[in-house]
Amino acid sequence: MTGQARASRVAVLAEGGGPVDSGRIEVPPPGPGQILARTLLGGVCGTDVHLRRGDFALPFPVVLGHEGTGVVEELGAGVTHDAAGVELVPGDAVYWCPIPPCHRCYYCTVEKDFSSCPHGAWFHPADQPGWGSYADLVTLPSGMAVYRIPDGASPEAVIALGCALPAVLQGFDRAGLPGVVDSVVIQGAGPIGLSAVLVARQRGARTIVVIDQHENRLETARELGATATIPLSVDAERRRERVAELCGPRGPRLVVEAAGVLSAFGEGVDLAGHNGCYLLIGLWSGHGAASIDPTVVVHKNLRIVGSCYAQPEHYYRAMNLAARLERTIPLARIITHRFDVAEADAALDAVERGDAVKAVISPGEAKERES
Ligand SMILES: [Zn+2]
Ligand SMILES: [Zn+2]
Repeated sequence: MTGQARASRVAVLAEGGGPVDSGRIEVPPPGPGQILARTLLGGVCGTDVHLRRGDFALPFPVVLGHEGTGVVEELGAGVTHDAAGVELVPGDAVYWCPIPPCHRCYYCTVEKDFSSCPHGAWFHPADQPGWGSYADLVTLPSGMAVYRIPDGASPEAVIALGCALPAVLQGFDRAGLPGVVDSVVIQGAGPIGLSAVLVARQRGARTIVVIDQHENRLETARELGATATIPLSVDAERRRERVAELCGPRGPRLVVEAAGVLSAFGEGVDLAGHNGCYLLIGLWSGHGAASIDPTVVVHKNLRIVGSCYAQPEHYYRAMNLAARLERTIPLARIITHRFDVAEADAALDAVERGDAVKAVISPGEAKERES
């Protein structure tokens, strides 16, 4: 097939408000610096649900899918290694950071905050080859951070937490948290909350408490290392008492907002312990105003930290962390639903309803099935 154009099915969001359409594009051989890969698994993210709902403006129409793993089909001229200097050949499995930064702007060159690059984009036009992973084939542009998945690591484990694990790794970096992180409360047990369980565990937390409304997600949180879970059906006052029982009188050192709903904010400030940190990751969406008593922030010595997206470094670290953890933790089981490219709408429905802990697009999967 080398040097020939190939056909690829793509799932296209023509406008906010959906639905997702099935399209077909011709994918030319990769140009200089590009990598052509066949999608193995594309992660279905809560963000994609927001996009279909029309919560955010994009240069529509776009191909969905900012979380991906694939197998290299063909390398463009000059591509011999991945972004970490590992040799790359056709047949290798790869994972990528979905924003191709320009490497020339202030954010890229001075702050090394590639996800803020004004020339980067998470999505590409639907009539052009690109990195959208709700597709049979992806063309990964020159300048995009692409990493070879280590031998022995499963693409399931690498994609199971999607963009959430990199985002949580960046969040913990931004939170600082020198020294002991003995107790952590996590609001929400979607992919961000579950990633926070894993990272809190890596940081040696003795107590990891997760709050969520879905029992299936709480069960997964316990499997990954949560030491206690509290269903959202328990009223707010009782939740507060339970956190105090579990974390002790100083309260949790860290509260991670992974809920993406505004009502979580006031409770998070309230739950955070003395000298603690409240890390906001999930409220990427859910615009609105929330009132808090700022004297509480002062009296607790509380730090409130926001963290948006992740850097190539965090994707690389997330991939290696997943590769190591899957030896002892059943990360692949986080994936509960698999869909073909043509079933993208059903995949988004499963995530929207909360049925899926994690759904993936697996091109060629005949129909929805629960793993
Ligand atoms: Zn830039
Ligand atoms: Zn995502």
